[in-house]
This record gives sequence, structure tokens and C-alpha cells, in this order.
Amino acid sequence: MSAKRLELTDGYVVCQDCGHVDTYTLARHQGQERCTQCGGEYCGCNCCSETGRITIQLQLKQSDQSET
Ligand SMILES: [Zn+2]
Ligand SMILES: [Zn+2]
Repeated sequence: MSAKRLELTDGYVVCQDCGHVDTYTLARHQGQERCTQCGGEYCGCNCCSETGRITIQLQLKQSDQSET
């Protein structure tokens, strides 16, 4: 019924070489845009998107703590 599981408006891509996380874009997902850290290829599959989300959340938490 609900076949709209390809909503990638809030997705992430993860570099396969260094693990750098960036926001999802089609160019990055298709390998047209490379990692800004090491030049490696991003992966934007559902699994990596979820991994990226968790990584971002952890980073936000850490920067929160270091500011106080
Ligand atoms: Zn990288
Ligand atoms: Zn992946």
C-alpha cells in the first residue's frame, strides 16, 4: 500500500574510504561528487544514510558538550 519508501529528503551519504558523512544529493549518491575529505566515493544506500544520521547526531551532541 504505502510504496513511498524512497523519500530521501533527509538522507545522508557516507564516504566508503574515510567514513566522512555528508548530506544526500543525487550527484554524491551516483558518485559524480567525491568525498571532500579524501576524494573517495560516497554511498547513499538506506543503510549508509541511517549510519550517517547517527554519526551526525553524535557529532552534534559532542559539539554541544565541548561548547559549555
Ligand atoms: Zn572520504
Ligand atoms: Zn551504503
